[in-house]
Amino acid sequence: MKFRTAALIGLVLVFLLLSFLSSVSGIPLLTAGEKLPPASSLKAGDVLTHVKVTAYCPCTKCCGPVAVGLTATGRDAWETLGVAVDFKSIPKNCTLEIPGVGQLVADDTGGAMRQDAKKGIYHIDVRFHSHEEAKKWGVQLLEIKIVSITGRQQ
Ligand SMILES: [Zn+2]
Repeated sequence: MKFRTAALIGLVLVFLLLSFLSSVSGIPLLTAGEKLPPASSLKAGDVLTHVKVTAYCPCTKCCGPVAVGLTATGRDAWETLGVAVDFKSIPKNCTLEIPGVGQLVADDTGGAMRQDAKKGIYHIDVRFHSHEEAKKWGVQLLEIKIVSITGRQQ
């Protein structure tokens, strides 16, 4: 009984500490199971904060042994730059402003982005022309602005 009480107090203290650190750092605690709003609720000018930004290229190392060099929307993955997203939370073919890269179209998708979206995490994958560039990018936490959304009144 005493041990249980001590353990409970310990858990409460850990939670309070995490909450404090979260409020000080400005980084929200990740809440498991929290859903992202639907893609249809986003509009031009919106800024997504704390977006996990990774990078890839069209090679077989990045896209698997059966990579055919086309994006999910049918663009030539080698010729064009673009971004892979979860289409349920970020509109297909919208234009995003990526700090340090420029404006790119959300023209592709991938399992990692869909999995993170299910956990309530915005994750986008920037497509570069070469594997070296993609590797150099690593993982970055950035603010991403939605510049425009194709096929919808702004
Ligand atoms: Zn690659």
